[in-house]
Amino acid sequence: MAKGTINVSVENIFPLIKKFLYSDHEIFLRELISNATDATMKLKHLSNIGETKVEYGNPHIEVKIDKDAKKLHIIDQGLGMTKEEVEKYINEVAFSGAEEFLDQYKDKVDDAGIIGHFGLGFYSAFMVADKVEILTKSHKGDDAAHWTCDGSPKFTLVKGKKKDIGTEIILHIADDSTEFLEEARITSLLNKYNKFMPISIKFGTKKVNDPDHTPATTTDKDGKETTEPQKQITVDNIVNNPSPAWTKQPADLKDEDYKGFYRELYPMQFEEPLFNIHLNVDYPFNLTGILYFPKLGNDMNIQKDRIQLYQNQVFVTDNVEGIVPEFLTMLRGVIDSPDIPLNVSRSYLQADGAVKKIASYITRKVADKLKSLFNDNREDFEAKWNDIKMVIEYGMLSEEKFFEKSDAFALYPNVDGKYFTYEELEAKIKNNQTDKDDKMVILYASNKDEQHSYIEAAKAKGYEVLLLDSPIVSHLIQKLESTKENISFVRVDGDSIDKLIKKEDTAISKLDEDQTKTLDELLKEVIPSDKFMVQLEPMDSDAAPFMITQPEFMRRMKEMQATGGGGGMFGMGNMPEMYNLVVNTNSELVGEILGTKTKKKQERLINQSLDLARLSQGLLKGEELTNFIKRSYDMIK
Ligand code: ADP
Ligand code: MG
Repeated sequence: MAKGTINVSVENIFPLIKKFLYSDHEIFLRELISNATDATMKLKHLSNIGETKVEYGNPHIEVKIDKDAKKLHIIDQGLGMTKEEVEKYINEVAFSGAEEFLDQYKDKVDDAGIIGHFGLGFYSAFMVADKVEILTKSHKGDDAAHWTCDGSPKFTLVKGKKKDIGTEIILHIADDSTEFLEEARITSLLNKYNKFMPISIKFGTKKVNDPDHTPATTTDKDGKETTEPQKQITVDNIVNNPSPAWTKQPADLKDEDYKGFYRELYPMQFEEPLFNIHLNVDYPFNLTGILYFPKLGNDMNIQKDRIQLYQNQVFVTDNVEGIVPEFLTMLRGVIDSPDIPLNVSRSYLQADGAVKKIASYITRKVADKLKSLFNDNREDFEAKWNDIKMVIEYGMLSEEKFFEKSDAFALYPNVDGKYFTYEELEAKIKNNQTDKDDKMVILYASNKDEQHSYIEAAKAKGYEVLLLDSPIVSHLIQKLESTKENISFVRVDGDSIDKLIKKEDTAISKLDEDQTKTLDELLKEVIPSDKFMVQLEPMDSDAAPFMITQPEFMRRMKEMQATGGGGGMFGMGNMPEMYNLVVNTNSELVGEILGTKTKKKQERLINQSLDLARLSQGLLKGEELTNFIKRSYDMIK
């Protein structure tokens, strides 16, 4: 019998392991199952290349709880180890790995996210066990080996009794870790980390209907039918799907398969995804995965940790920040790559060359997919636009490469539900909506109902009005204005329509200088100057007499600040709302105001008109609204 002391410089590594990895004890199971999987895959490989006499067959990994004896078993049918190999791989390699890990991470215990992403390998077993045994028999045909270690660096290694090839790890669960003897706890761990591991994992048995048994139905003398109970059989409870959709070739998958896999990933999600993107590269890095576009709408507060990261089918994390470009974290699905370094901090990750390549590959794939969806079935793409535009607009804002490609699929709907690409939009409006300074003015509304009268005024001029209603649109148009040549976006209620798109021929005022002065003074007396800037303008006589507008610049800055970023530096958020009151000097009503004899009546007309203008902007509320209604009734009496 061999006895020994494992050669470590850290005096007693086990308390350290416990301490440093306190919050993530549960990863021991993932580590041990990963080892079992590796051992099985290695045997498969040896068998494929004819380097072993062992029949590979159809191996599985078994997890077994022995609650009474407080033991947890992990049993594989992999290549096993000889005594010498246990000596080498467990005592030397695994231990030095553990030491190295602790060396590297003992100062970074706060970086809890990272520790969970990086296993400590075999020795993580000591986080939950006070004694660990390895029973193993190598495919090479040597004697079995039996290693025991009680949580100090002392171990024993003797000849074992194991008959079948493979390895059994026995954990004597420590008193502070008995949760890992609970079936429900283990089930949920297997579900979290091992749901898609490549080797079948058996955990207990379950009862299912016997496929060979069809219950017979008998009819008694009264004609009453009775069906005998369905026979049940006991089968292995296999907890994982060893070949999830993302490991298959796109050509072998149908739309139904993708949807089925989505349900497998998100069993509680009842809404189907809009479409998916299958990622599949092996050069210059390895990456597979499937991303799904869920229905997003205009809600910015969507849960972002829905993409799962795997490494060779082992779950690593659902926090893909730094790996997947930010705008795509709104999507769902999985990515699997052995090339993503996980034992590093997030900031390092973001600077890592390979990871950058991965992010830009994913961005490109998503852009290509959107382009082909648009080209293949524009109608369908338009129908989905409202649910995907947030991702696309966010991507256009945050990823330059994506922005460059987005002209091929980014859409600009008008208020009547017609969709344009930027190019189409430009062709459509260039002639009519270019102002005297040669700037192309793109008119938009954010709400069809609230801005109805302004939209109608613009349409009456033959202008096109877009409907841009996503919460980040102010940022997006800012970006478009700074990249496209000589354009500007203005919301339809930003000013009177003639001012929004200034043409050479300015209308002539019906009022002479004296009348204009009188009107101006009159208005200033009645209209509160802290709320409205009065602006006299000669417009078409049938355009609205009074109109409230909010300057584009100010409104946009406020909006941008509300949704984060840009505009903040101007401190606009704290500015009171300021509106312009545009008074159409050519309107009949203005003529009437000037023509009215008594001051009182004039004031009443002005107040009534101002209130009507406020009403059409949704600005008349509370007491003022009540007064308005009362005044209106008095007027029609
Ligand atoms: P790693 O898996 O990163 O190599 P571990 O500490 O998890 O590190 O394991 C150390 C080594 O012990 C493995 O590389 C392998 O050679 C051996 N080993 C561990 N578990 C098994 C097993 N179930 N079957 C065969 N070999 C194993
Ligand atoms: Mg390992």
